[in-house]
Amino acid sequence: MPSVDYQGELFALRDDETVLDALLRNGVKAAHSCKAGSCGSCLLRATSGSVPAKAQLGLKESWKVQGYFLACVCRPEEDLALSAVGSDVRLGATIRALDLLSPDVVRVRLQCDEPLSFRPGQYVTVLREGGLARSYSIASLPDESALELHIRRISGGKMSGWFHDSAQVGERVSVLGPSGECFYVPGKEDQPILLAGTGTGLAPLYGIIRDALRHSHRGPIHLFHGALHRGGLYLVEELHRLAHLYPHLTYTPAVLNGSESDDVAVGPIDQVILKQFPKLSGWRGFLCGDPTLVNTLKKRLFLSGMASREIYADAFIPAAQTS
Ligand SMILES: Cc1cc2nc3c(=O)[nH]c(=O)nc-3n(C[C@H](O)[C@H](O)[C@H](O)COP(=O)(O)OP(=O)(O)OC[C@H]3O[C@@H](n4cnc5c(N)ncnc54)[C@H](O)[C@@H]3O)c2cc1C
Repeated sequence: MPSVDYQGELFALRDDETVLDALLRNGVKAAHSCKAGSCGSCLLRATSGSVPAKAQLGLKESWKVQGYFLACVCRPEEDLALSAVGSDVRLGATIRALDLLSPDVVRVRLQCDEPLSFRPGQYVTVLREGGLARSYSIASLPDESALELHIRRISGGKMSGWFHDSAQVGERVSVLGPSGECFYVPGKEDQPILLAGTGTGLAPLYGIIRDALRHSHRGPIHLFHGALHRGGLYLVEELHRLAHLYPHLTYTPAVLNGSESDDVAVGPIDQVILKQFPKLSGWRGFLCGDPTLVNTLKKRLFLSGMASREIYADAFIPAAQTS
């Protein structure tokens, strides 16, 4: 019979036993509730070994590829190594570069002490000496030499203020993660993709787009980046360059305040999107940034026909609201 390795302890499964039952029988306090594969509270992650498809039914593609499964309906056919959800890697990292991308946004390049395995669009938690911790989305690709973050200055913000005003190249931080399910999963290469975000919501989207392109995604990719005014847009030239290079990529910058012109749309980003694409059934969507906007867009895209399992979102919820 197969066995499971859970936090360094090896448990052999009995005939027809689920992973959850084997853990409980061996005294592991594994979270669970319905024991029928529907509530999701027994979610675990396999770091090696393959999980039966039945144990991943109903999970998003992005969760499946990371090895997440429901332990209460998992009867594996081979040995599995498991990790509890949220048991992240913590690495030391050195600040390699700090560049202003706009008056409000600094690009931080971090060199981790060891390679960090991540998918572009996921996020890491950056910790400073003293324990201050904030999450930032990853804009870089795994084969790039540094981890790229885009950090917007928040007035009175402890972490963002430090990165903008005091942090120096060569200084050390720690990085915890990666986390999040907002990333490109290869497959369905002809599916249209819509990406939308405001401010530094662009960071994960920039990673996701380049990841989709390097996986040879063939379907149309539409990026909408919103800001209050033109000065809040950034990476404009780089995104136009990418769109020029890949004709199936369209980049629409949008501002809330300003006059209509050929190169920038004016209006709330949800209205700009739905004016162009009122019907979105069969599409995949990625939404990042301001929590209110992310929630509004989620509803709007769903009401326009996008399936909820195809909507991947990361709301940048301020730390005070999460703790
Ligand atoms: C999953 C995730 C990914 C994220 N990715 C990014 C990213 O890629 N880039 C990025 O810049 N940020 C990102 N954030 C937000 C980031 O984690 C911090 O919340 C942000 O940098 C503010 O931290 P701070 O320490 O500077 O401000 P704090 O010291 O925490 O806050 C100072 C004051 O500002 C308020 N405040 C905090 N954030 C905002 C806001 N957005 N708007 C208005 N008031 C605010 C607080 O309530 C508080 O009163 C992400 C958040 C999450 C949860």
